[in-house]
Order: sequence, then structure tokens, then C-alpha cells
Amino acid sequence: MRKIAFIGLGNMGGPMAANLLKAGFEVAVYDLQPAARERFCELGAKVADTAAGTLHNAECVISMLPSSPHVEALYLGPDGLLGKLDPKVLVIDCSTIAPQSARKVAAEAASRGLTMIDAPVSGGTAGAAQGTLTFIVGGPSNALEKARPLFEAMGKNIFHAGDAGSGQVAKICNNMLLAIHMAGTSEALNLGVANGLDPKVLSEIMLKSSGRNWSLEIYNPWPGVMENVPSSRAYAGGFASKLMLKDLGLAQEASQSSGAMIPMGQKALDLYARHCEGEGASLDFSSLVASFREGLLK
Ligand code: NAD
Repeated sequence: MRKIAFIGLGNMGGPMAANLLKAGFEVAVYDLQPAARERFCELGAKVADTAAGTLHNAECVISMLPSSPHVEALYLGPDGLLGKLDPKVLVIDCSTIAPQSARKVAAEAASRGLTMIDAPVSGGTAGAAQGTLTFIVGGPSNALEKARPLFEAMGKNIFHAGDAGSGQVAKICNNMLLAIHMAGTSEALNLGVANGLDPKVLSEIMLKSSGRNWSLEIYNPWPGVMENVPSSRAYAGGFASKLMLKDLGLAQEASQSSGAMIPMGQKALDLYARHCEGEGASLDFSSLVASFREGLLK
């Protein structure tokens, strides 16, 4: 597969599509935002005015959109892309959405003779830019093998989680855990600083101690502790808190439908819901630490 249609050029989709171009794929792109589309004219992509405009000769469609309603609106319905695709075109949705939405789109695709796989990613915007993402795939393994060269152009690790929707289930579990350790890391740093410690020194101590975790090691939320992370640029870009809140809502739905208890996930959801009432919603999710600092999460 050399000709790719790529829809959704935000914080993640933008660098992912750019890496496909760098790897020599022919990429036709579309995003609702004109500014996101314009950047791709300079990078040598074909830039379409509509999502359907990317499909000419495409062998694969990749979408990277915010949430389930966006993905369902793109593919389903009388004007949806599934109705416009030749059956040999592979559909890959990399957005983080509800497993039941992924299964719904995959089933509708199958009823039209198409294959759709869910392939949500982990690794953040830095991983998207560096081409080191982890792809977590749900759907038939032969479709994953067909997509492997594309994933390898954008990432480093590729996992097959199971049938349609399984990639989303694994991604939701991962992000619930991420929210929990980001909240815990923020809480511990705030406690230390409130009791007179330097956040950099405390971070170094915890990194060599049993509190070590990804939020502390790769994505320190306290401003000034680490370079090149959202906390060092006023939490701009990155992974918006409102998207983390969406993922925690998906974890809650998965908990309710399965009966598996998630008391820590529920607490993280409550914290992010309160954080998102203010300007934190559009800031990177590590900005949760600001709500701790301001005493807003009592
Ligand atoms: P984003 O909001 O930066 O980008 C989404 C893009 O989709 C926007 O540019 C928007 O204009 C575009 N869009 C929305 N509806 C569209 C449509 N119908 N047609 C074309 N374009 C449309 O979000 P993001 O951070 O890139 O996240 C995308 C997905 O990846 C989300 O599901 C998120 O949960 C997941 N994710 C994000 C990160 C991260 O660190 N940002 C990491 C892993 C997974």
C-alpha cells in the first residue's frame, strides 16, 4: 500500500501523517481546520477540501479524530466514507474511541466487504513526532500485517490486542492507569513542595525510589523540572485534559458494562472533571498539577 488518505491533522495526526510522507508514502490529507491543512501543502501532501476528497486512488484510509461521534460521523450514514470506498481499501482508525463504536464501524465496514481495524496509539505527541508510537490493534491479524509498514513508519511497537474493539479496550485501560499515576505524581510533588522541598530534587529522589513512573520519568508535570515537555511550555499542545476526561469516561463505561470495579479510575475521572471546569480543559493533561497547587481539588 503506497497511497494513503489521512484524516485528522491535530496534535497527533499531524506528525503521524508527516512521518508517512517522510517514509515515501503518497499521502492525501484533510482536516476541518484550514491552518492544519495549509501546513501540509508545504510538506508535499495532496491537500483535499473534504474528507471524501482524499480518497482518489487511496489504498488505505487512516483517521485520527477526537472521539467516537467524530469517527462515526466520518464513516457511517448516507454520506459516510464507507459508502464511497472500494472493498480493497483498508480502513484504520487510530483515534481513541469507545470499543462499541469501533465494533459498530468495523461491522458496517464488513457488511460492505471492507476491513476496518482499530489502532489507537500510545506515546504522546513526542512519540508521534519521533515516529516511536505504540500501535494497539484490534481486528483481523491479516489486516494488521497489511498495515504493518504504515505502523512502522509512524511507530516502534505494534501489538495485536484481539478482535475488533480490543485495541480500544487495551488503550482505555492504559490511559486510565496514566491518569491515575499523573494524578498521584502531581499530588506527591505538590505535597513535597508545600512542605519545603525543591520539586526537582524530590523528582530525582522519587525517580530512584519506588514511586518511579512514566509521568515522573518522561512527562514531569511540575513547571521547570524537565525540558521539552508540556509543563515547560505552559501546558500548550500535548494531550488535552478534556481528551483524558473523555478516556476516563470510556473506562467508566467499560467498567459498567463488565462489572469490573475501577475506584481509582473513578477518582481520577472526578479530579479531571473538576480540572476541566476551568481553563485546564484545553491544556495538556499534566496541567492537573496546577489545580493541586491552587487547592482546587479538595
Ligand atoms: P486534536 O484535537 O489535536 O486533533 C484532532 C483533529 O481532528 C483536529 O485538528 C480537528 O480539526 C480534526 N477533526 C475533527 N473532526 C474532523 C472531521 N470530521 N474531519 C476532519 N478533521 C476533523 O486531538 P489529538 O491530540 O491529535 O488526539 C486525536 C486522538 O488521539 C484522540 O482520540 C486522542 O484521545 C488520541 N490520543 C492523543 C494523544 C495525545 O498525546 N495528544 C495520545 C494518544 C492518543
